[in-house]
Amino acid sequence: MKLAMIGFGQAGGKIVDKFLEYDQRTQSGIVRAAVAVNTARADLMGLQHVPEENRVLIGQSRVKGHGVGADNELGAEIAEEDIDEVQGAIDNIPVHEVDAFLIIAGMGGGSGSGGAPVIAKHLKRIYTEPVYGLGILPGGDEGGIYTLNAARSFQTFVREVDNLMVFDNDSWRQSGESVQSGYSEINEEIVTRFGILFGAGEIGGGDDVAESVVDSSEIINTLAGGGVSTIGYAAEEVEMQNSGGLLSRFTGNGGGGTGEDTAHTTNRITNLVRKAALGRLTLPCEIQGTERALLVMSGPSEHLNRKGIERGRKWLEEQTGSMEVRGGDYPVKEPNVASVVLLSGVTNVPRIKELQQVAIEAQDNIDDIRQESETNLESLVEDDEDELDPLF
Ligand code: GDP
Repeated sequence: MKLAMIGFGQAGGKIVDKFLEYDQRTQSGIVRAAVAVNTARADLMGLQHVPEENRVLIGQSRVKGHGVGADNELGAEIAEEDIDEVQGAIDNIPVHEVDAFLIIAGMGGGSGSGGAPVIAKHLKRIYTEPVYGLGILPGGDEGGIYTLNAARSFQTFVREVDNLMVFDNDSWRQSGESVQSGYSEINEEIVTRFGILFGAGEIGGGDDVAESVVDSSEIINTLAGGGVSTIGYAAEEVEMQNSGGLLSRFTGNGGGGTGEDTAHTTNRITNLVRKAALGRLTLPCEIQGTERALLVMSGPSEHLNRKGIERGRKWLEEQTGSMEVRGGDYPVKEPNVASVVLLSGVTNVPRIKELQQVAIEAQDNIDDIRQESETNLESLVEDDEDELDPLF
């Protein structure tokens, strides 16, 4: 599936940069165009792969290239005021060649948190291609304002996109790690999961022919209907056959060689599907009640088979209660069999309810502190008996 990616803010820009690196490394062909938008000049300069002409600095007259300091209302205002500059970069994208837009942003900060929903609304008005969001939730230790920003941005972003895929930094951070090295591992995780998912619908002519290929229309149909999505992933190392997928085609038993191998291949696939769906999701949630799901099995074609994918799909139907579970394979020449499970339209998400609760508390505290500090300042500046007059 070919995407036009727009990274908004620091996190958004860095993740788009990482997608470009992944695309070059794996030849997955998913990034048809990449744009980075920011109010902070330094963040744009730090990118390595996004072409210079696709880096858009907005709000120069308001914040002079220094960012909005986690003020997402200002981030949204600036994005609206300077939407033409963003559109200018999008005008250079051959939109007829892309299957969808993907807007990526950290939701706890200012530029991306405020700006991403504004761009989404704008794109949806102008183009017929679907507009998806990838929203990053902040870690719980980042503090009240980040949580409040994320909760407000989440509400707005979900409303403005065709589907919001969520990644929760909180469930991925590891203690004792520096923030930077932590993020680089987290970003790798994000790019791997989404890379396999979107790469599945983008099989080139030279690749092994998949038994039941995942087409980009299946990704689009799984994401259609809106709402919130989460993604599971599990992988296992395997040995590659030098002959590639030839053996399985000659033996005619759908991959896996002998009967015993086939059973082994099938079992491996069903185990990986369970691990992916029940393991750590990008957004932790209850999978029962998921509206639609898509299973993508990637790996060397001799390690993929239709039976395994069918069983995995059935199991997902039982677990989610969904009648719309799609599935297929994505042959790649890497010594890994991986299962990616996209769960779309999840609604039982305690993490979001907790985020909203903390955000409401933070909002109340901020209001109290603001009022208190006004009173305190007044009592400091005014003399007790009101004997002094200000100059003017
Ligand atoms: P902005 O530039 O004002 O949009 O704000 P940032 O993107 O710097 O930060 C917003 C939020 O994104 C932070 O609160 C973090 O939770 C998260 N974040 C920042 N950098 C990264 C990153 O490289 N990877 C991930 N996964 N999250 C990040």
